Amino acid sequence: MIEAKNVIKKYGQVTALDDFTVDIPKGKIGILGPNGAGKSTFVKIALGLIESTSGEITVLGENLDKNSIEIRKKIGYMPEHDCIPNKMTGVEFLIEMGQVSGLDYQTATQRTHEILGHLRMGEEKYRLIEEYSGGMRQKIKLAQGLVHGPELMFLDEPTSGLDPNARQEMLETINGLAEISNTNVLLSTHILQDVETVCDYVIIINNGKLQIKENVKELVKRQTDTIQIRVGENSDEFISILKQNNNKRNIEITDRWIRIPYKNEESFKEIISAAASAKCQLYEMERIAMTMDNIYLEVVN
Ligand code: ADP
Repeated sequence: MIEAKNVIKKYGQVTALDDFTVDIPKGKIGILGPNGAGKSTFVKIALGLIESTSGEITVLGENLDKNSIEIRKKIGYMPEHDCIPNKMTGVEFLIEMGQVSGLDYQTATQRTHEILGHLRMGEEKYRLIEEYSGGMRQKIKLAQGLVHGPELMFLDEPTSGLDPNARQEMLETINGLAEISNTNVLLSTHILQDVETVCDYVIIINNGKLQIKENVKELVKRQTDTIQIRVGENSDEFISILKQNNNKRNIEITDRWIRIPYKNEESFKEIISAAASAKCQLYEMERIAMTMDNIYLEVVN
């Protein structure tokens, strides 16, 4: 869906994207990363709003430099910040946006009512936008990006500022997008839960570089609890006993710690007995929950 090869973006002395390479599949994709990671820069380049300093990027199979106007017709964008006129009704605004994207009046009107129906907006679509609740404003912002029937929709922090009910509704709506109109979704957010609820794939960016690209279901599967261990000398012997006990499954070893899956309280006894057999001193043994938050924190720190 989007392919970036060795993309560099510098703003003066600041390198926002640092040799960034990624191949993003079709579907519902989340882009996660802390503030300043380079998410918006990547999205703006993919939308054709700004140019990269060097590197190549293709969107929906087309080279962005050569075909940016054609590609823009296939793309929708829901920006994070408010960008909607208060003195128009929802319907008027959407018809206008449809026409700006090249639809004739009749098609724009038809699409407007279809989309607002999908978004479960009733009679309030004929009211002035200034009277809308936060949730309804977000829906109109989403709808204006969808009215021309894009193949790919960029969503920038779509749940920001919503109360829990409106947030849930927005996530369900995004989830339904693919079914309604075959739209692929690129969701840029700092809320892990939103990615877990909506996305098939997640990309984590930090310091302008790609840290992880992974199937969300696979990532969620890794969310089993583990026991983190720190040991003294003779760790090789200790690790080899642990591997025998655990059929070599999922034992992670770094310079600082060893982690094995937590099965039940017996797991602690197994570790103590392995340490005793290997004459290896246990400095620390702690059960930790490998939630998506922990995986994320580990990647970005
Ligand atoms: P994110 O969206 O992940 O928060 P950004 O892409 O906005 O990250 O920013 C990446 C880096 O580029 C940050 O260090 C940011 O300060 C810098 N940056 C972004 N836009 C500009 C700009 N227009 N001028 C100068 N520096 C910028």
